[in-house]
Amino acid sequence: MEYRKLGGTGLRVSVIGFGASPLGNEFGPADENEGQRAVHTAVREGINFFDVSPYYGRTLAETRLGKALAGRRDQVILATKCGRYGKTVEECDYSADSITRSLEESLRRLQTDHVDLLQVHDVEMVADPKQIVQQTIPALRKLQKAGKARFIGITGLPLKLLNWIASQAPVDTILSFCRYNLMVDDLDELLTPLCRKQNIGLINASPLHMRVLTEKGAPDWHPAAPQVLQAGRQVAAACREAEADVALVALRYCLDHPYASTTLVGMSKQAHVEQNLRALEYRNDPALLQKIAQIVAPVKNQLWTQGRQSNNDPDWTAPQ
Ligand code: NAD
Repeated sequence: MEYRKLGGTGLRVSVIGFGASPLGNEFGPADENEGQRAVHTAVREGINFFDVSPYYGRTLAETRLGKALAGRRDQVILATKCGRYGKTVEECDYSADSITRSLEESLRRLQTDHVDLLQVHDVEMVADPKQIVQQTIPALRKLQKAGKARFIGITGLPLKLLNWIASQAPVDTILSFCRYNLMVDDLDELLTPLCRKQNIGLINASPLHMRVLTEKGAPDWHPAAPQVLQAGRQVAAACREAEADVALVALRYCLDHPYASTTLVGMSKQAHVEQNLRALEYRNDPALLQKIAQIVAPVKNQLWTQGRQSNNDPDWTAPQ
């Protein structure tokens, strides 16, 4: 395993991180024993960064991850989140009281007395972004002082909002998803420079574009436009023709990012853990990458919006 420093935290995280949302059945029913084997294999092979949220499977992913990590807690860097609890903005709560309660419940489910990283989940769900700066992040810092979280961070889809929050209230890490992979790469334009400047740990999630870049293809809830999903199928076909595994090509592409500390890939199966570990030795063929770039070009950087419309990049204006 290869490890990189996580911004200025002093933590060294494995370049492949374990995304636990599939343990909460977010991509379809996941077998609990198989999920445990996936977690145990990952720890044994040196994956030390685990990311979860009370939102994933509406607490199921945390409960399952807590059970799977029992006896192994000290071998991992454990990250969870707070603030998002459902699909709609009404089901989210970024108030200080709620955040504090939320972490206590997460700690019980995760069978631990502290997490290594506590993140505000999907900041674009908030009604007023100033609340994150003035109330939520100070509440997280208080929990940090109390020893319940070693470091704090923010997560979300819109990069301009993440950028604005981090420039108003210092954070230790930022988790961005679906903004740097074979389909989308505007992360480096909108967020990486700030992370480098402020020594913020950058966590890049969803290297497979939430299963678009796999043989199985996207789940039916996937928010991307049909032409994006179609391009994903063409990418998979091009990889097949070149006798390469599309997931491996996609994961390796993300591991080659020069600044991101870790790439979080969602896993609930031992076979996927084993396959993804092969990415460490794997090297992408430049000719295949060029072919993929041609296929993706017409839909490159085509995204969807999430949460409050005004928090998304196309509509964003910084609050005064
Ligand atoms: P992903 O791109 O990692 O895709 C995960 C899907 O691909 C799952 O269905 C998984 O079973 C499948 N898969 C994994 N390895 C495979 C392989 N080798 N071959 C075939 N299929 C494979 O998307 P994701 O899970 O959404 O993102 C990764 C993690 O990042 C999440 O689990 C979560 O921890 C984190 N994340 C956080 C946020 C946020 O905080 N807002 C958003 C998205 C993701």
